[in-house]
Amino acid sequence: MSAFPVTRLRRLRRTGALRDLVRETTLSSDDLVMPLFVAPEALPNERLPALSRHTVEGTVRECEELLRAGVNAVILFGIPEEKDDEGSGAWIDDGIVQQALRALRPRFPELLLMTDVCLCEYTSHGHCGVIADGEVDNDATLELIARTAVSHVEAGADVVAPSDMMDGRVAAIRAELPQTPIVAYSVKYASAFYGPFRDAADSAPAFGDRRGYQMDPGNVREALRECEQDVTEGADMLMVKPALPYLDVLRAARDRFDLPLAAYNVSGEYAMIKAAAAAGDLDERAAVLESLTAIRRAGADVVFTYWAKDVASWL
Ligand SMILES: [Zn+2]
Repeated sequence: MSAFPVTRLRRLRRTGALRDLVRETTLSSDDLVMPLFVAPEALPNERLPALSRHTVEGTVRECEELLRAGVNAVILFGIPEEKDDEGSGAWIDDGIVQQALRALRPRFPELLLMTDVCLCEYTSHGHCGVIADGEVDNDATLELIARTAVSHVEAGADVVAPSDMMDGRVAAIRAELPQTPIVAYSVKYASAFYGPFRDAADSAPAFGDRRGYQMDPGNVREALRECEQDVTEGADMLMVKPALPYLDVLRAARDRFDLPLAAYNVSGEYAMIKAAAAAGDLDERAAVLESLTAIRRAGADVVFTYWAKDVASWL
């Protein structure tokens, strides 16, 4: 191995064309998924525009703009008119997500329609499953999660993404939907970075927290067990959520599993850069492109991000 002065790593950094030529990790709008919130009434968010709620018609307009910008995949979250103990708004035939899917499917055959499958936006108590004896009942929840996934597919979803963190949910969905790709939120931490999402989705738990089913931030070996479990149950893609505070977990999952791997660049990550940019402390575009490149470099094939539309137009 030759050393300085023969070896000079700066030689390949001299011009933009050289840097472009040797870049190891790139970003493409093909790898991005845009989250959208569908509700009976629109609720614009000026500070965090991607966390605005859209009506069904508004969602159609958003999808038109996304496709024009070059984003070909969305994930839908629903905010129902009414909530109840079981979260029935999640699976009823005329639920808000089902309505949106029926409006979008014939309009945009080329758009990948993914749905978040969970109960927390639909339950009166805000937990991701049904409650028994003051706790989320794992096995009683599975049937409702599977029912929700089936109703999304019947309404036009291409891909379902269970985010509830119940044990056995992928198997429960797979038993009902042998042909549908499942993106499993395999590694979902009980994170402080979901704050702005909970306001947008109106899904904050009314009592307690989600630490009894979401993962403890200190654990990475357990994250790999979660992935393993989802692979065994029939998942097609694994996900780590949040992204930036968990790049080591992404890397560990990448090294161990060959399935496509997604990362969810969550609302708190979005809000931090937005706030710093609004204060004049960071350049939003540069900070976002660097963050998303880091998430890809850590091992993510696919990035769910509130900047999907912006990034597609910047690229
Ligand atoms: Zn949930």
